[in-house]
Amino acid sequence: MKKDEQFGFYLDLNRCIGCRTCQLSCKDYHDSAIGVNFRRVFEVEGGSWFDSDKTIKSDVFAYYTSISCNHCSDPACTKVCPTGAMMKTRYGIVMVNQQDCIGCKSCAMACPYGAPQYDKKSGHMSKCNGCLERIDENLEPICTASCPFRALEFGNISELRAKHDGLASVAPLPKEDVTLPNLVINPSKDTKFSGDRSVRMHSPEKYQGVEYDIV
Ligand code: SF4
Ligand code: SF4
Ligand code: SF4
Repeated sequence: MKKDEQFGFYLDLNRCIGCRTCQLSCKDYHDSAIGVNFRRVFEVEGGSWFDSDKTIKSDVFAYYTSISCNHCSDPACTKVCPTGAMMKTRYGIVMVNQQDCIGCKSCAMACPYGAPQYDKKSGHMSKCNGCLERIDENLEPICTASCPFRALEFGNISELRAKHDGLASVAPLPKEDVTLPNLVINPSKDTKFSGDRSVRMHSPEKYQGVEYDIV
């Protein structure tokens, strides 16, 4: 990518199986502190079984969303940062300069995607930096490279939008006009759209008796 191009992500909900390889590979590569996850995978579900004309029918649905920072074109986080630590840099990537961050958490409260993550150990905010050092070397971000189902892609957002049909206003994410996220999501047949209140969201801390540091 060229430095003046806008970085973005593509996520295919027809391919994502919620394995969390992207989340864990990011955490491992960035050596993130306990409780800090730059990419998070949520299970989204809803619906129920119901009686319809003496037949039991169902409208249950489920899908996964893998979400990090969307390096928004109108970022809520940079607007509220009192020190300018949260800033847009090359490739349009939004990153936090930890030396200037005073840990006030204003960015975390402003971001509708929960992207900025407070690092209790350092006392500063941390977040997805688009694996910027890898982009400089013409390498892929770790999360997109590690997805075993090729559900994630990164690149110039204009090219991703031209290549894939999709949108970013997918439940439980906010409507895309809030921050203009550089994100394209290919919905599955089950996908609900932003504002749909029938969805429930899970990010289990414990599965089959094993505890995970994923929230
Ligand atoms: S690695 Fe791929 S399939 Fe697995 S949760 Fe992440 S995006 Fe989904
Ligand atoms: S997703 Fe949140 S942290 Fe990332 S650029 Fe947008 S508003 Fe800022
Ligand atoms: S681009 Fe890099 S920092 Fe951002 S979620 Fe993916 S692996 Fe993590």
